[in-house]
Amino acid sequence: MPADSPRVLLVEDELPIRKLLSNALTAAGYVIDESDSAQQAIRHATQSPPELVILDLGLPDMDGQELIQRLREWLQAPIIVLSARDQDQQKIAALDHGADDYLTKPFSTGELLARVRVALRHASRSGDETGSTVFERGDLKVDLAARRVFVANIEIHLTPIEYKLLTTLIRNCGKVLTHRQLLKEVWGPDQVQETHYLRVFMANLRRKLEADPAQPRYLLTEQGIGYRLASEIMPSDT
Ligand code: CA
Repeated sequence: MPADSPRVLLVEDELPIRKLLSNALTAAGYVIDESDSAQQAIRHATQSPPELVILDLGLPDMDGQELIQRLREWLQAPIIVLSARDQDQQKIAALDHGADDYLTKPFSTGELLARVRVALRHASRSGDETGSTVFERGDLKVDLAARRVFVANIEIHLTPIEYKLLTTLIRNCGKVLTHRQLLKEVWGPDQVQETHYLRVFMANLRRKLEADPAQPRYLLTEQGIGYRLASEIMPSDT
């Protein structure tokens, strides 16, 4: 095991699922601390701080939401929550409490590993804010220092709100942002209920930036939850 293997704290009370995930993550080169309760998770996290936390929302001794809040008081590592289907409100609450991403059960281990890679990449980038001021994905190029946006080398004019919405997504590239988080960030804390603002401005942004606004490649919808800027762009088939 290389010394720099990322440490992952896996919090899941169902043994078969925990073993399955633990085996997949170990095989992929991560060091795993397993916890079957929130108390044990807090103990593990304080003794050997993880680079990433994977956390089931249904735990025996504490609400998963509360555990996220407790960890977020001091831990910056990304948190991926595991949740059952039809629990959109739970997922939204977890993201609003500081989780970075979610996986809906049942999911494949391939899907899990992909999300883990994105979360770790995002975490290592946000520690390096002084790096590049140009964001590039596929045909989209945003010069953050000059505040200029290009698609296929053609400059696109964005309104201040559209630009703020885009740069908020860029800062969190690959990560799901809830409607509430985006509204708070772009329009301010008094406007978190105004989801129609978001729909209107997201539609405008897609019209300006996407080749086919009905099938966006960059500005992805997380149904019922929020939006995400794609962390990887498939080559276009044209
Ligand atoms: Ca559980």
